[in-house]
Amino acid sequence: MTVGPLDRAAALDAADPLAGHRSRFITPPAGELLSYLDGNSLGRPLEATAELVGEFIRKQWGGRLIRGWDESWLDWPLTLGDRLGAVALGASAGQTVIGDSTTVLLYKLARAAVDARPGRRTVVLDTDNFPTDRYVLEGVAAERGLRLEWIETDPAAGITAEQVAGVVGDDTALVLFSHVAYRSGWLADVAGINRVAHAAGALTLWDLCHSAGSVPIALDEWGVDLAVGCTYKYLNGGPGAPAFAYLRHELQGELRQPIQGWMGHRAAFEMGPGYEPAAGIRALLSGTPPILAMVPLHANLDMLADAGIEAVRAKSLLLTDLVLDIADEWLAPYGVEVAGPREAARRGGHVTLRRDGFQEFLEPLWDSGVIPDYRRPDGLRIGPAPLSTSFTEVCQGLTVLRDLLEKARR
Ligand SMILES: *Cc1c(COP(=O)(O)O)cnc(C)c1O
Repeated sequence: MTVGPLDRAAALDAADPLAGHRSRFITPPAGELLSYLDGNSLGRPLEATAELVGEFIRKQWGGRLIRGWDESWLDWPLTLGDRLGAVALGASAGQTVIGDSTTVLLYKLARAAVDARPGRRTVVLDTDNFPTDRYVLEGVAAERGLRLEWIETDPAAGITAEQVAGVVGDDTALVLFSHVAYRSGWLADVAGINRVAHAAGALTLWDLCHSAGSVPIALDEWGVDLAVGCTYKYLNGGPGAPAFAYLRHELQGELRQPIQGWMGHRAAFEMGPGYEPAAGIRALLSGTPPILAMVPLHANLDMLADAGIEAVRAKSLLLTDLVLDIADEWLAPYGVEVAGPREAARRGGHVTLRRDGFQEFLEPLWDSGVIPDYRRPDGLRIGPAPLSTSFTEVCQGLTVLRDLLEKARR
């Protein structure tokens, strides 16, 4: 007799070394949540986060007031950046900074990068990258009179080193791709693509929004030049939490970001006449950093350091294996297809399922407390965050989906 998904899920939960972390998360009010499958859009909050935020407001903000800036806040963008770099990004100290949003940091880094390669007139990107990445580069290209070279990627797969090799050349200033594709979940070969881009003399900018906190990253080792990512997906920073930027040591001092505000100045509090960038990664700052919004990151990085990103990835692969099995066993008979890579080496932390008319199922799913995420035109993304999601929870959510599909057939 073959073991069904429910039994398999129970066995996986019983053997899960990370299972204990689930109790660190805030339990939603009874009846509100059966299965959270959207960890790739908005991570869940920790109990420790609620406590830290309250304590910060009462003690630090309420107690220290403006003294807090000198006592520690001014350093947070860099110290938290270093911690994030160590725990999740494979980045040694002094190369990661927290602040702004991913979109704004993309702009700052992309502008800095193309200006640092003045003779080169082309920027390479792909048609299936996240909208904000495409829009920001359209704007940078218009500002700088550059040409965008679009690689057509399969929305059910993703960018390859061969495709990049086919377009880069001595006119390429910069290439920009996502580490994990937001639709298909495709995991790009960052080191391989960097080699191809660097051989052509181009700089590389990577968007890590869908991989940070879910897939191990080795920015230093992979030879990444620049990177950005958000902290509200797998890093559980909360809605609109600040983003991070990475700028390789060797490029600091050479690249100049365009939003030159006082917080990126060499001597912010001298309030002097002209702009002079700070040394090192601090030059990526512009205005007053969003300190309050950085508070949750402390709790999340503690948890991730405890769990270890390799263990998180191991569980993530088991979770998405289970999603693939259920898709094949339970959902395929209703016309559901897997619209993404199946092999572990090319798979990020989520799986996209596709079916005509999937949109109609979203509301009944949400009404039942099952929260996946929908991407036009017909994709349902299943993104189980390893630290907050059990195998049984995934099974329960997809059981509701199967029942809805069955009801729709009758
Ligand atoms: C979520 C996401 C973003 C979001 O950018 P914001 O500025 O935070 O809105 C950007 N890029 C990718 C690939 C994403 O997944």
